[in-house]
Amino acid sequence: MTPSSSLPRCRFFIGGEWSQASGLAVSPVFNPSTGEMIAEVPLGGAAEVEAAVQAAHAAFPAWADTPPSERARVMFKYRTLLERDFEAIARLISREHGKTLAESRGDLFRGFEVVELACAAPTLLTGELLPNIARGIDGELARHPLGVCVGITPFNFPAMIPLWMFPLALVCGNTFILKPSERVPLTAIRLAELLAEAGLPKGVFNLVHGGKPAVDALLTHPLVKAVSFVGSTPVARSIHQVASAHGKRVQANGGAKNYVVVMPDADVGKTVEAVINAAFGCAGERCMAGSSVLTVGDRGRAVMPELVKAAKSLTVGRTDVETQPGMGAVITAAHRDRVRGLVDAGEREGAKVIADGRGVKVKDAPNGFYFGATIIEDVRADMKLAQEEVFGPVLNVLHMSGLDEAIALANTSSYGNGAAIFTRSGGAAREFKQRVRAGMIGINVGVPAPMAMFPFSGWNESFFGDLHMQGRAGVLFYTQPKVTTSRWFAEGEGDIWKK
Ligand code: NAD
Repeated sequence: MTPSSSLPRCRFFIGGEWSQASGLAVSPVFNPSTGEMIAEVPLGGAAEVEAAVQAAHAAFPAWADTPPSERARVMFKYRTLLERDFEAIARLISREHGKTLAESRGDLFRGFEVVELACAAPTLLTGELLPNIARGIDGELARHPLGVCVGITPFNFPAMIPLWMFPLALVCGNTFILKPSERVPLTAIRLAELLAEAGLPKGVFNLVHGGKPAVDALLTHPLVKAVSFVGSTPVARSIHQVASAHGKRVQANGGAKNYVVVMPDADVGKTVEAVINAAFGCAGERCMAGSSVLTVGDRGRAVMPELVKAAKSLTVGRTDVETQPGMGAVITAAHRDRVRGLVDAGEREGAKVIADGRGVKVKDAPNGFYFGATIIEDVRADMKLAQEEVFGPVLNVLHMSGLDEAIALANTSSYGNGAAIFTRSGGAAREFKQRVRAGMIGINVGVPAPMAMFPFSGWNESFFGDLHMQGRAGVLFYTQPKVTTSRWFAEGEGDIWKK
C-alpha cells in the first residue's frame, strides 16, 4: 500500500530517537470493531534493522555493566507507569485488536506480571558457588547477558507477548529490538514510550516495524545473539531453522489446537462457563483457546444443551465503546472469511453446525469484522476443521465413549500447547495429566496459561527450541553461564604444593 497523508503513521524507535521512516511501503492498521483504517505502519527492511542493531550493540557494554539492582529499578519505574496508564493502554488494545475491554485488561495484566517478575532481577540472577571443589579451589557460576536480543510478536496479545520477552531480557543485561505484529503496532509503540519515560538508557530498547524482510534481516544479522518468536507454526518452524543456522539462540512458540475433556461427573454449570470462555474468549484468537471439546459418555454429553444456549446468547459487538459486548470482532476481514471458509468446508464434509455465527450482524458497525460464536458437532478427525488451527470463535465437539479414547484422540494432534479436563475425580485428572502430550494442563481450568513465574511450555509443533518464555526458563534463555575455577594462595605461600 502507498502511504496516505491523512492517517497517523507509526514511528520507529532507534537509539532513543523516534522517527517516521519515509519512503517505505506501508500496511494498514484497522479498528476491527468498525473496519476503519486508524493508522498506517511503514514496513522496514534491512536498512532500518541495521540501524537498530547498531544502536542496540553500541548500548550493550554500558547496560551489561549496570548493576542488576539499578536495571531492576528501571523496571520498578516501568511498572508504576504501566499502572498509571493501565486503562488507556487497555483501550488502545481493544481499539487495534477488537477484543473486549475486560480481555484487553487481562492481556496487559498478564504482561504486567512479567514486569513484576523482572523487578526481582537481583535475586533471579544470583549465581552459584561451591567452595573447595578440590583442596584450596573454589567453583563459581555467574550468569552473563548475551548481547543484542530480538523479539518478534503476533497480533493476538499486543501487550502480553512483547512483555513476555523484553522485561526479562533487559534486566538480565541485554539490549533488545522488538518487531511487533504489523497488525497491532500501536500498543507496542506505547510500551516503548513508557520504557523511555522510565529512564531506560538510549539504544537499550529499540522498536522496528515490518514484515518478513525486517524479520529476515534480524534473523541473519551477525550481531544478533538471540531470537524470541511467537506466531503461527509454519513461521515459528522457519524462524527456528534460519536463526539457528545463523548461530542464534532461539525460542519459537507456534500455533495450537487445544482439547477440553468433559467427564461424566463434571459440574455442568461451571464447565459450561469455563468452556464458553476457553472457546470464545478473545473471539477464539488465543493460542490457548479450548477449540475442541471431547465429551465422555452420555453424562458428559449432557453439557450440550447448556453449552449451545450459552453460545447462542453471547452478544457480539463493538469493543471501542462504553457498553461492552460478550465478544468482539476478529482481526481482519480476510481472517473472518478464512474462518467462515473452514466452517463451510466442515459442514460440506458432514459436520453439524449447531450454533451458527456466520450470519452475525452488528447494527452500529456494518463494516466490522464479526463472526459469531459457532459450535460444530460430529467433526471427524480427518476433517480440516479438526486438524487446522481455526483461530476464531469456533468450537468443535466430538463425543467419546471413555477417557482412554479422549486421551488417544488428543494425542493425535501435531500441536501440544494446552489440554484441560473437567471432572470431580482425582484419579481421572491424574491419568489425564500424566498421559496427555501437551505442556500446559488445566484441571477444571479451561485456559491453563501459566503465570509469569512459570514457563509458557508448549510441546510438539507448538514450540521450537529448548528454554521457554517467562519464569526462570526466561532468565536462563537470556543469559549464559560463566564458570570460574579459582585458587588463591595465602600471603607468602606462593609454593604451597611444596609444603
Ligand atoms: P504470524 O505467524 O502470521 O505472525 C507472527 C509474527 O511473524 C509477526 O510479527 C509477523 O510480522 C511475522 N511474520 C509473519 N509471516 C512471516 C514470515 N513468513 N517470515 C517471517 N516473519 C513473519 O502469526 P499471527 O497471525 O500474528 O498470530 C497468530 C498465531 O500465533 C496463531 O497461530 C497462534 O496460535 C500463535 N500464537 C502462539 C502463542 C504461543 O505462545 N504458542 C501465543 C500467541 C499466538
